[in-house]
Amino acid sequence: MNRPKYNEYFIGRLKITHTKKENHMKNYNFCFITGSQFLYGEETLKQVEKNSIEIVEHLNKVLPFPVVFGGVMKTADEITAQIGTANSDCHCAGIITFCHTFSPSKMWINGLAALQKPYLHLHTQFNKSIPNEEIDMDYMNLHQSAHGDREHGFIGTRMRIGRKIVAGHWQDENVHTKISKWMRAAVGAAVSKGLKIMRFGDNMREVAVTEGDKTQAQMKLGWQVNTWGVGHLVNAMNAITDSEIDAVMEEYEKLYDIKTDDINTVRYQAREEIAMQKLLEQESCGAYTNTFEDLFGMEQLPGLASQRLMEKGYGYGGEGDWKTAAMTHIIKEMTKGMPGGTSFMEDYTYDMAAGLTLGAHMLEVCPTIAQDKPKIEVHPLGIGGKNPPARLVFEGKAGTAICVSLIDMGGRMRLIVQDVECVKPTQTMPNLPVARVMWKALPNLEASAECWIMAGGAHHTVLSYDADAEMLRDFARIMDIEFVHINKNTEPVLFENELKISDTIWK
Ligand code: MN
Repeated sequence: MNRPKYNEYFIGRLKITHTKKENHMKNYNFCFITGSQFLYGEETLKQVEKNSIEIVEHLNKVLPFPVVFGGVMKTADEITAQIGTANSDCHCAGIITFCHTFSPSKMWINGLAALQKPYLHLHTQFNKSIPNEEIDMDYMNLHQSAHGDREHGFIGTRMRIGRKIVAGHWQDENVHTKISKWMRAAVGAAVSKGLKIMRFGDNMREVAVTEGDKTQAQMKLGWQVNTWGVGHLVNAMNAITDSEIDAVMEEYEKLYDIKTDDINTVRYQAREEIAMQKLLEQESCGAYTNTFEDLFGMEQLPGLASQRLMEKGYGYGGEGDWKTAAMTHIIKEMTKGMPGGTSFMEDYTYDMAAGLTLGAHMLEVCPTIAQDKPKIEVHPLGIGGKNPPARLVFEGKAGTAICVSLIDMGGRMRLIVQDVECVKPTQTMPNLPVARVMWKALPNLEASAECWIMAGGAHHTVLSYDADAEMLRDFARIMDIEFVHINKNTEPVLFENELKISDTIWK
């Protein structure tokens, strides 16, 4: 592939064609496959197909991604061919199977052995109730999922295939909710497998939890994690024109309250934003990191610039934290179209008297979680030794959310999810010059913190109002990584045992 070179682009000012943004633009769908066999005759099979299409048409009205009907499977060859089609379709984010009749499972072995996509077994039935007058042996032959799906379930378990099982009538809302969450997790998995992460410089010196095995991460999660020297970014920044900055400043004026006279400082953040976005687009990266320890040639730590890029869907991790950057992007893509918001986050300080955590970062909190219109302010930053940076200041909204941390346990990844209740910050904190969120961690501050620390959870997290533990559990199952959940029922003593068992399983 002919890739554009930085020097040509930024020094020569040559027009280059951006490489394709593989994940951002993709429209995902799911393949619905009905299991059956030839035993019942043409007429029954026709009815199975008709009913399956009716189910698919209904699901298309209520689910967040399109469902494509893959057909009624009668033979092993059909199944293997259909799964092969799903595997090779880059828009297919997963398969959904349902056995309207009995579908002998040895027919499925070769197909399922080759399956590379997320898998959901929908255990439903065309009719919700038993029609008293209509039921006879023909009816019994047609509506067999109660035993057909048990045969189908056995082979999945026998083959140890991680899959989501959803039982219930296909018109029921809780069935749609479960499928929707799994679909979002599956899209997250597709995004993960194609994700490229740009590191501007290395991790913060001496920090342990932001480190990790990048080769292992790529093998397991698909992430391409690579580093670009900060000099590339500085070159890119120097090539940004005043009119490019003017255009972004107009957006700032529309979207935010500009509470500073220091417009040049704000314009400098616009320059950083445009330059970083160009480099990310050029390399098809969905996430990036930087660190205050490596800003050579830059006048300000990107604050507003990073907040803006997160708002546009890029993942960000401070201090070189590429795992949190990646998870921020993945969760943003998973929850696209949802109203809540998702941000890079850090547990900062406690109100132990009130049992609350104050979350923030030195600058970089995503405005998608803001309660009101964010303000652009300029304040000195004690860390990093650069000029006072412009940043967005706001309060996070109230609502149910999760904090997510992915850690490298050495040889494996552990995904930790903490349920939280975000509240309106209890104090105005007029001298705190950064965006802030306040939450109550469940079951309470002390037990949640004991469990989080026991599990090795990082100080950096992804805070999401849209994703929940079930979605992340589905994601972990698809990616085949360990999942740990701290919630309203968690007790530290039992949790410690759970971690010990988990350590044995995943070692
Ligand atoms: Mn940090």
